[in-house]
Amino acid sequence: MVTPAEVDAIAAKLGISHQDFMDLYVDPDWPGTRYFLLRHGQDGCVFLVPGGTGEYVCRIHDHKPVICRQWAASKQKTECRAGLDRERLGHAHGPG
Ligand code: SF4
Repeated sequence: MVTPAEVDAIAAKLGISHQDFMDLYVDPDWPGTRYFLLRHGQDGCVFLVPGGTGEYVCRIHDHKPVICRQWAASKQKTECRAGLDRERLGHAHGPG
């Protein structure tokens, strides 16, 4: 999950606009407005990328969403594989 404020902060770090971040990295099917779901595909979260050592790393590690700071990104991490989809499926409060 990523909040609108986090979208602004991460977009600024990436040098893109809020709208470009939304278009490129946020799941358009997510109905919420208080927080958004990051896109994910077969290889996991849109920000999960191969690192230099062959391990997968978070492309936005230094400014990733607060919820992601509880773990180190990897292919073995369910949340990164699913692009936080598990949070969507299991979120107690529903879409925001
Ligand atoms: S920690 Fe994982 S889920 Fe969070 S932004 Fe990075 S790759 Fe995506």
